[in-house]
Amino acid sequence: MDNYDVIIIGGGPAGLGAGLYSARRGLKTLILTETLGGQMALAHIIENYPGIEPISGIELAEKMRKQVEKFGCEFKLETVVGLELKDEIKKVKTKEKEYSAKIVIIATGSHYRRLEVEGEEKYIGKGLSYCATCDMPLFRGKKVAIIGGSDSAVNAAIYASEIASETYLIHRRDKLRAEEVTQENLKKTPVKIIWNSVVENLEGNKFVNKIIIKNMKTNETRELELDGVFIEIGEIPTTEIVKAAGVEVNEKNFVIVNDKFETNIPGVYAAGDVTGSFAQIIVAAAEGAEAATNAYLYLKGGFYGERKPTDYGEKKVS
Ligand SMILES: Cc1cc2nc3c(=O)[nH]c(=O)nc-3n(C[C@H](O)[C@H](O)[C@H](O)COP(=O)(O)OP(=O)(O)OC[C@H]3O[C@@H](n4cnc5c(N)ncnc54)[C@H](O)[C@@H]3O)c2cc1C
Repeated sequence: MDNYDVIIIGGGPAGLGAGLYSARRGLKTLILTETLGGQMALAHIIENYPGIEPISGIELAEKMRKQVEKFGCEFKLETVVGLELKDEIKKVKTKEKEYSAKIVIIATGSHYRRLEVEGEEKYIGKGLSYCATCDMPLFRGKKVAIIGGSDSAVNAAIYASEIASETYLIHRRDKLRAEEVTQENLKKTPVKIIWNSVVENLEGNKFVNKIIIKNMKTNETRELELDGVFIEIGEIPTTEIVKAAGVEVNEKNFVIVNDKFETNIPGVYAAGDVTGSFAQIIVAAAEGAEAATNAYLYLKGGFYGERKPTDYGEKKVS
């Protein structure tokens, strides 16, 4: 069995941020991941990572991988299938091998809930987005629709109304689930709400230019021509394996961490989208860096700056 100080599960920005800070501190570090870059690698163009000119997600991921490897962090494309975390030395099993480490950092991310309609796969990054914060600025002066009724969907519609020429909010019920205050803010915008309706399919050429909507009450269908579609119907965290190993999650299945990114198991940390944080590359990378730094200090028996140790659960990030 190969032994490490730190094993990081996930090679998205949280895992790569953790790898950078861990290896640069001189800890023997391994990143095990199914994919390089995680969700970041799906981004057509990233315009909001400071200091980096607009870049594709794949290119940014490749830059981050090269940087961590420069500091001696090992990077392996292997899927973790089992974990034993309770003992001081933790065991991590992949399809290929078994590894051990004193620290495990969970950075397995999450994925956006899909509508599962025709045309969805085809138009991801081609007028179809799951992230208004990431992509709305690309639709300035364009006509867009947001699908969903939660806080994130309504906030996306409000945001769109400041940028797009015309904004529709399509919701399958006759009431929104968003908080009252968010709904009040929506009323102050020109957003047009299409109630009791679902999207049946997305159509277009190279880019989406039309959606077909069905009214659930009347069964009537209509076409809506547009330039952009934002699906805002929630996120699913990747936590099955860590839950099976005893890591505590909240009611939405996000890993619970304190303000040092510690989980309920000593020596096990979590960072990035898997903790339910604001789903952005800069946040995931920063949380990874902080988790790795706290892990280093835990191994050395110290604490970060002036900050006093907090008990698990004192401040829950998710
Ligand atoms: C299309 C799209 C565009 C986006 N655009 C932007 C943008 O412009 N700006 C921005 O800031 N954010 C953007 N985001 C959001 C951003 O990509 C995410 O917030 C960020 O990638 C989260 O990082 P993470 O490391 O926490 O998780 P992820 O990126 O999801 O990475 C998780 C990693 O864990 C790995 N993994 C999971 N389970 C296992 C396992 N069992 N074994 C091994 N590995 C495993 C996965 O393979 C993956 O590599 C976008 C997201 C999408 C989908």
